[in-house]
Amino acid sequence: MTYAQFHQRSLTERDAFWTEQAALIDWQQPPQQVCDYSNPPFARWFVGGTTNLCHNAVDRHVAARGDQAALIAVSTETDTERVYTYAELQREVERMAASLKSLGVGKGDRVLIYMPMIAEAAFAMLACARIGALHTVVFGGFASGALASRIDDAEPVVIVSADGGSRGGKPVPYKPLLDAAISLAAHKPAAVLLVDRGLVSMNYTAGRDHRWSDLRQQHLDARVPCEWVDATHPSYTLYTSGTTGKPKGVQRDTGGYAVALAASMKHIFQGNPGETYFSTSDIGWVVGHSYIVYGPLIAGMATIVYEGLPTRPDAGIWWQLVEKYKVTRMFSAPTAVRVLKKQDPAYLSKYDLSSLKALYLAGEPLDEPTAQWISSALNVPIIDNYWQTESGWPILTLANGVQAQTSKFGSPGVAMYGYDVKLFDESTGEELKGPNQKGVVAIEGPLPPGCMQTVWRDDQRFVNTYWKSIPGKLVYSTFDWGIRDEDGYFFILGRTDDVINVAGHRLGTREIEESISSHPNVAEVAVVGVADNLKGQVAMAFVVPKDASALDGDAARLKLEGEIMKVVDGQLGAVARPSRVLIVNVLPKTRSGKLLRRALQAVCEGRDPGDLTTMDDPAALQQVRELVQPG
Ligand code: ATP
Ligand code: MG
Repeated sequence: MTYAQFHQRSLTERDAFWTEQAALIDWQQPPQQVCDYSNPPFARWFVGGTTNLCHNAVDRHVAARGDQAALIAVSTETDTERVYTYAELQREVERMAASLKSLGVGKGDRVLIYMPMIAEAAFAMLACARIGALHTVVFGGFASGALASRIDDAEPVVIVSADGGSRGGKPVPYKPLLDAAISLAAHKPAAVLLVDRGLVSMNYTAGRDHRWSDLRQQHLDARVPCEWVDATHPSYTLYTSGTTGKPKGVQRDTGGYAVALAASMKHIFQGNPGETYFSTSDIGWVVGHSYIVYGPLIAGMATIVYEGLPTRPDAGIWWQLVEKYKVTRMFSAPTAVRVLKKQDPAYLSKYDLSSLKALYLAGEPLDEPTAQWISSALNVPIIDNYWQTESGWPILTLANGVQAQTSKFGSPGVAMYGYDVKLFDESTGEELKGPNQKGVVAIEGPLPPGCMQTVWRDDQRFVNTYWKSIPGKLVYSTFDWGIRDEDGYFFILGRTDDVINVAGHRLGTREIEESISSHPNVAEVAVVGVADNLKGQVAMAFVVPKDASALDGDAARLKLEGEIMKVVDGQLGAVARPSRVLIVNVLPKTRSGKLLRRALQAVCEGRDPGDLTTMDDPAALQQVRELVQPG
């Protein structure tokens, strides 16, 4: 079967298709109905079925591969490394589950996890799934305000945290931030469970705070069976990255998610039991949920939980892990690859990478120079994949497990099975069916298994936010702007917010960035549209140079500015030429490494930059402010 036929069948014979995929996981009660879409846009998958995510990720593998590696926890921050077999993982999860129960957590309750990248974070997630509680993982190191608002939204019974994380060898205390967040929040958790790594000393609040080492000891021999839950029972909530505005609380189901992940491990990631998967993301993001914790384990693979920088002790650390654990599938983000690109390329040839079969990249546009660089360095397929926190698994990529397909640089690939991806004209609502037409990337309902069920506690917000933006159509908007070529490959041109209208010409910031990044001295670039009296909007570019030392004088800067404008003129035409090119040391990004274009744009227009709770380095915006608002 060709992939095109496979995709077609997933839409035209939806129930038969997903019934086959549902057989990839274990069910306690088989589903009675594949998809209930009687109340659009709310889809209910595998209705009547009962299952458990933790059972599928852990327990079902124990008999066949109990002594094989399941979770490999590596920290170059604390110089520790520990391999948990499936049997050991099961026991640790049971201890955590018993501890959570003893603190009052029951089915349907929420547990907020505010943790560094350590094994206990995964134990906590799996323990929640085991007992039917919902986890809300909040990226470790988020400031108190961001954490407090998530505490109030999730209303957790228990918060699981640690004394701290570590970055570049420096401990990052978590407990003081957590204490401040709890006092800020209106909701108070009944208990806090703390992993003491011995990094930072902690003050315990009597009656509320508990040591994991104590509870683990009390429950050392605990056996906690998996709680069978309805397929539609929510498994977790997770916030979007906050790139375009206030983060949205995504709610995910259980059965649909398990099936979607199992199917993606087979058709997209081609992971086999006994192999090792290495995702360099963080459990605080959706990639960490789907492809550090659940996906690889559901597939019976070993998964690496890595705490540390990609460049410490040196820029070979990832490749050292690939060699040591014979990683077959690796998942990362363009931003991380760009960090490595600035390092000595010799690190890539230092290790035996022959186990590696593919590198998957997601989260933001993969620019061609970065893709080319890593592709020739690794000599394995580089597979871009486009998705969202909301979708839980790739929307656009290549399903090489179904049929090997060649990738096209600049394109994340084709619509994945289950996704009826369409392009619409944002102002008229007209569907753009022909090739090479630019429009909003949208998905016809029902969203496939694994996608968000709703916005946590806010069905109305789910409908209003996602399903009302294309005039006259009840379709899910991704809020990304794209184009589809004659072969069905999509190209993402930017966020719909980032479409610039210069004197009546609609341009994607992505197109301009792509063009600017082809200049040899450009390491990173961000383009935003800025209001202009004459033209409506003009493009402004912020460039991080590869070699800043040669740009000391004004003349050198002006020269680079001129060269960059020429590149854009030549590739896209003068309409796309940025009105200004500003040289900066660093671009404002979220903690997950995404460009905060809306903040750049707001500063350029002299507006308030809005919710910056997920921003990484406030200094980045300060430099921009000084450049655009001199004096
Ligand atoms: P928020 O929704 O809170 O503004 P966010 O959209 O950045 O934040 P995520 O769900 O983490 O939150 O990111 C999804 C978005 O990331 C997509 O909508 C798209 O804009 C971008 N993206 C993800 N993967 C790719 C890719 N492979 N190519 C281009 N863009 C991508
Ligand atoms: Mg988004």
